[in-house]
Amino acid sequence: MIEYRNLRIGLLGAGNVGSQVASLLLEHQTELAERAGAGLELVGIAVRNESNTRRTELPRELLTTDAESLILSSDIVIELMGGIEPARELVLLALNSGADVITANKALLATHGPELFELAEQVGAQLYYEAAVGGAIPIIRPLHDSLAGDRVKRILGIVNGTTNFILDRMYTSGATLEQALKLATELGYAEADPTADVGGFDAAQKAAILASLAFHTVVPLESVYREGITNITLAQVEAAKAAGYVVKLLAICERIEDGTGSDGVSARVYPALIPEKHPLAAVHGAKNAVFVEAEAAGDLMFYGAGAGGIQTASAVLGDVVSAARRHVIGGPGIAESRHANLQILPISAITTRYQITLTVVDRSGVLAEIAEIFRNHNVSVETLVQSVEGVTGEANPPATLVIGTHEASESSLSATVADLAASTVVETVVSVLRVEGL
Ligand code: NAP
Repeated sequence: MIEYRNLRIGLLGAGNVGSQVASLLLEHQTELAERAGAGLELVGIAVRNESNTRRTELPRELLTTDAESLILSSDIVIELMGGIEPARELVLLALNSGADVITANKALLATHGPELFELAEQVGAQLYYEAAVGGAIPIIRPLHDSLAGDRVKRILGIVNGTTNFILDRMYTSGATLEQALKLATELGYAEADPTADVGGFDAAQKAAILASLAFHTVVPLESVYREGITNITLAQVEAAKAAGYVVKLLAICERIEDGTGSDGVSARVYPALIPEKHPLAAVHGAKNAVFVEAEAAGDLMFYGAGAGGIQTASAVLGDVVSAARRHVIGGPGIAESRHANLQILPISAITTRYQITLTVVDRSGVLAEIAEIFRNHNVSVETLVQSVEGVTGEANPPATLVIGTHEASESSLSATVADLAASTVVETVVSVLRVEGL
């Protein structure tokens, strides 16, 4: 039998994910040692309150409230506390002490990633974060390693399970947003305060992480354009369905070429229409998926559980094994690649397609006036569907126009919508949604 060197693992947090990580580390010790080439000894678990009930049965003697001492006696530190402080201070302490760090903390990485990666590089340690985006789905390592020789053009991600559950419920069962959110809360998919999910904040953090990684550029969270799903109505979802689209909250990371060699990066989160034949349209319930378009590899899709204690623990343990292998081999950690340093583009710089729904007065000449407004802003109309749904006997019932555009810039689109709203022939601008994935 091989005698392995023992690596000391310090775990910070024993909540949904941490308790599962601890149990798997203890239960699969032998197997993990074979894979890592080192014994993985869980030496302690830092928590806020030692007497809290845990999701899995953990040895009492491993629990401690002294996170600092635990870190200073660990070779590998797993941060699963969440939040910014004290997680940030503790990760900095761990790196400074020479430990490799594994974290699932997207909020921390999206706001303090550069500081943490810089320190890791300085001290020759490694920071692993597979579980920070897409839970169990392997997406960080594929972008980091497998696609390191390729050039990523665009990422479209469904990276928030709560909002996907809500939008899917509206699409499949005709529930309103409020009804779907209530069900998501009852089933444990949504937090008591759902703002981080429905407001798109969680997805924006993940977009910042994915864009930084995919485009070898620091993409600050503040530069990620964000719209949540709170204004999405059942009528919009049903109209989209009738037109062959599905509404999804997308995290979009895109390399935009300007033709002069100074490319830029756009990272943005908003609800968008995608064609029902697009692979992302088949992502139902609380599942996540990340669709990557690469220059040489073509289209790739990564799909699975975006959250859940045990599922996320799988990604964390993969990182533990990688960290242990690195310890066994020795040498400094691999620095995060930020060499491209592309400029970060504002939302006004992007072009995409739009679907605009209007109610207009039903009289002759209306279509010509609407077409004129689009022409004035160089927005080309691709499709136009008109329907009249007045009350029987009503003299001039309003007509509904659903207009699909060719690619147009955000600025031209905003100017068009402003003119439509001010036009005397338009009663209401019912909805403006971007169309992606065509
Ligand atoms: P959680 O259930 O809230 O657990 C947090 C744990 O950290 C608890 O055990 C808590 O101790 C401990 N803790 C918090 N503050 C502490 C402090 N100041 N000192 C010591 N211990 C402290 O969180 P979670 O759902 O497991 O999530 C952990 C991380 O994984 C987060 O960054 C989250 O974003 C990320 N993540 C979670 C999921 C998921 O499905 N849950 C998926 C992907 C990524 P007590 O138990 O004593 O209060």
